[in-house]
Amino acid sequence: MFRASSKLFKFIGGNENIIKKLTNKYNAGINMKKYFWLMRKLLVAALLLLPLSTWAVTGAEQLPVRSFAIGSPTPDKLDDFLRFIDEDLSKTAVNQLFLRINYNYQFKSHPELADKNALSEQQVKSLVNTAAKYNIEIIPIINLLGHQSWKQDNIRSLLTVYPEFEEPPGKKLLDKDFYTRAYCPNHPEVHDVVFALVDELVEAFGAKGVHVGMDEVFILGEEGCSRCKGKDKAELFASEVNRIQAHLAKNKIAMYIWGDRLLDGNITGIGKWAASKNDTYRAIDLISKEVIICDWQYKFAPPTPGYFAVKGFNVISASYQVPSVAKFQLNNMIGMRANSRDTIKNRLQGIMHTYWGSFESFYQCYQGKACENEVKAGAVKTFISIYPKEKS
Ligand SMILES: [Zn+2]
Repeated sequence: MFRASSKLFKFIGGNENIIKKLTNKYNAGINMKKYFWLMRKLLVAALLLLPLSTWAVTGAEQLPVRSFAIGSPTPDKLDDFLRFIDEDLSKTAVNQLFLRINYNYQFKSHPELADKNALSEQQVKSLVNTAAKYNIEIIPIINLLGHQSWKQDNIRSLLTVYPEFEEPPGKKLLDKDFYTRAYCPNHPEVHDVVFALVDELVEAFGAKGVHVGMDEVFILGEEGCSRCKGKDKAELFASEVNRIQAHLAKNKIAMYIWGDRLLDGNITGIGKWAASKNDTYRAIDLISKEVIICDWQYKFAPPTPGYFAVKGFNVISASYQVPSVAKFQLNNMIGMRANSRDTIKNRLQGIMHTYWGSFESFYQCYQGKACENEVKAGAVKTFISIYPKEKS
């Protein structure tokens, strides 16, 4: 349309002789010159307005939700992040920013859990206000249940300060591919602490939703836990999801989680990471339909967004490092919406691109400087392919 309008404009603007000929030929009371003058003014106005409302088109702009998930900046990188929003993100189709905060915030309710060099309330406000200028909503991410450590030793704040909250991993800790520690969902005091953190993040960000992770939970219902031992893992997982959801629902706060624990790793063939092989997948029928599922599928893209939507969930399809997979997810979301009745269509909310690294490494790579590694380079390339900056 842009090209056609442009041609028409050139035709009208550059051919005064033709206008004269036309006005002579059709000398029937219509002032053709005035008509063309008006047309010309209207076209100029339309062409001036177009760049304000048109992103470089990839299809993403058709979807209600266009998200980007990335690590939150450390205070020394805050200015870079604000510049990234102002100069880059604002010129893409992104309208929702998921920021991995975890303990990168100066919690007042539990200062003992804050990272040493964490964002202040004022710094969070500057992020929120800058994003709001471009109608970009920020949703904080804090990992609940799983991801309370990285491997065996790099233990996050919660279990460092409150080791009694840990779901005992037992011999699993000796596995060379041990992934992350988890808290016990049945510990009587753990929720007082984690809900205080969640509530504080919601307040600091003025957020309408919070993402609580809950992906890749491998330590659950362990033999060494007297509270959880022998219990159904799907029920344990669902019970924790529902407990958090009920808490957030009191203040009408939306709850987002990653979807992997709700998928059957055997049937889908996508393994124990992107889906569940530890008996949690039946939880899909036990959790509140109010939970919004972020369905991350990075190397393959099976029809899981459709599965979640038919099961009753709002779903966002998430990509990472393979541009062709992300492109398929984007087109798949558009195609499914176009071929669904309203109930399902409205649940298929959109897409999310994820970057699993620091903002600093993303920004450096995004600016054409060195990328951290091949996977991260792929992730940045994928981001650019689905969220290119507007052509202006
Ligand atoms: Zn337990």
